[in-house]
Amino acid sequence: MNLKSLYLRDFRNYGEARVEFEPGVNLIVGDNAQGKTNLLEAVSYLGSGRSFRAMKTSEMVRFGADFAEIQGDIFSQERDQSLRFLLFNGSRPRQIFRNGAKKKALGEILGVLPTVLFCPEDLLILKMGAAQRRRFGDTALCQLRPNYDAALTEYNRILEQKSRILKDHFENPAVLAILPEYNTRLCQVGALLISYRARFYEGLGKAAAKYHGQFSGGAEEFALQYKTVSTVGDPFAPVSKLTEDLQNHLERHYRAELETAQCLTGPHKDDFTVSLSGIDLKSYGSQGQTRTAAISLKLAQRELMGREWGEEPVLLLDDVLSELDPGRQDFVLNQIVSGQVFITCCEPGRFTKLGKTIEIRKGSIL
Ligand code: ATP
Ligand code: MG
Repeated sequence: MNLKSLYLRDFRNYGEARVEFEPGVNLIVGDNAQGKTNLLEAVSYLGSGRSFRAMKTSEMVRFGADFAEIQGDIFSQERDQSLRFLLFNGSRPRQIFRNGAKKKALGEILGVLPTVLFCPEDLLILKMGAAQRRRFGDTALCQLRPNYDAALTEYNRILEQKSRILKDHFENPAVLAILPEYNTRLCQVGALLISYRARFYEGLGKAAAKYHGQFSGGAEEFALQYKTVSTVGDPFAPVSKLTEDLQNHLERHYRAELETAQCLTGPHKDDFTVSLSGIDLKSYGSQGQTRTAAISLKLAQRELMGREWGEEPVLLLDDVLSELDPGRQDFVLNQIVSGQVFITCCEPGRFTKLGKTIEIRKGSIL
């Protein structure tokens, strides 16, 4: 699958632009604030109907224009296809077209141009707090498994209601009567999440280990471990067993939850760790090791999505090149041989053997 060409009109700082891409690596170079990230945003939006940076659709419409247009020709699902979006400045809803026909729901375009984005903040994912890693895992898993997405939404809903009960019980002890019901449901849905996550992290870890091996010349052994509630002995156990394990942990923390008025136990605290040849990365990893491992994770995510859909998502690498040492830059530019890749960078003179360089200045393609 690959994006063959893109047409932009009044999108961000682009007046009108048309650009052809290579099926391999497309290196997008230009000074700061010229429109490199905007271009990636357009590609990502075209495939998902979602922006990774805009809060409101109208932000993407060029200042002073009434509407923006993004159109792309794509080879996908073994045929030529096209996607087109019209985004309006006011409250008028956007319009979506697939192969010229107007579509009502985003669901009707999903799978045509899946993308995976990697930006500088992602480089630090293994050094940051558990919440960031959970978000990374959840986002990837939701894309892979719609049922997981539904379960996660349900879990968060119950969790919120339980939080409210815990906060309210000091003033109104009667609310505690419904707490057991929420706890039971939380454990059931939580067990489902753990079950999905165990399988997902296993696959992700294996694929990432392969990439990390290529990156580091096989010098380090990458291992990912999924961490969940301590009473869960085996996250691959049947969901009924996981539910019991969660109930056990909950009972032990029942008092503490009431006293602190916080949901202390459950998979909303899950995390994962990465070690290199047995040494924990979060505590001991160097910058280069951390970054390499993070890119390996992202490439692994892309591979899992590709396996699921039969086509590898387009990889969007925004501004990560300058954060890497020359050896790792070479890997990113010249060794990611599968699928289509977009890489933005500010430094002129960068070169890829696997595709072409596109230069951008003030919202124009040179
Ligand atoms: P950097 O190297 O600093 O990351 P970049 O090339 O990625 O730069 P972009 O983030 O793509 O730069 O943004 C380029 C410019 O687009 C910014 O100067 C911004 O002001 C402008 N811009 C953003 N939204 C709009 C809009 N709706 N209309 C016009 N210009 C916009
Ligand atoms: Mg940028």
